[in-house]
Amino acid sequence: MQIKFCNLCATETIKKVPKGDDKMRDVCKKCGHIQYQNPKVVNACIIEHKGLILLGKRTIEPRKGCWNVPAGFMENGEATRSGAIREVKEEVLAELKNVTLFGVYNIIQRNQVHVYFRGELASPHFGPGAETSDAKLFAPEDIPWEQLAFPVGITALKRYIKEMTSRQFTIKEEDIVIDYNMLKKIK
Ligand SMILES: [Zn+2]
Repeated sequence: MQIKFCNLCATETIKKVPKGDDKMRDVCKKCGHIQYQNPKVVNACIIEHKGLILLGKRTIEPRKGCWNVPAGFMENGEATRSGAIREVKEEVLAELKNVTLFGVYNIIQRNQVHVYFRGELASPHFGPGAETSDAKLFAPEDIPWEQLAFPVGITALKRYIKEMTSRQFTIKEEDIVIDYNMLKKIK
């Protein structure tokens, strides 16, 4: 993605490799400001309540109408864990306890890093919040895999369910490769 105008002085940018760099950047013609573009961080939390998994149904694109593990972009001034806790509060109106790191997923095609936590409901209260039309607890065997929003959520949730039987949870770092044709079919 090209950033056409300088964030500092609004002058047009040009594509060039800055001195001492080895990548093409958008550089301001006037003040020389370099518009670096770096991956975005998404925080998520798999929520368990007495052996059930809490999912929210999305009311916004992408993947409107699909179920999802609560997740969202990290804000400035926030830590990964508090970001995940905030997203859970916003999307499914739930308070968490025992929040622990579960996985780090690189989505290179989207320039995103997804940090997944796992946690439990602090109380049995939840409901549809922002950008969510429904919030529901699913038994592992009833999870609607075909209607889950994102490959990263599917990958994390599958491992969670596998590990929850033994309660031997691991922390993994994985690369997620998105198959765009597959995504079109499963909607
Ligand atoms: Zn400038």
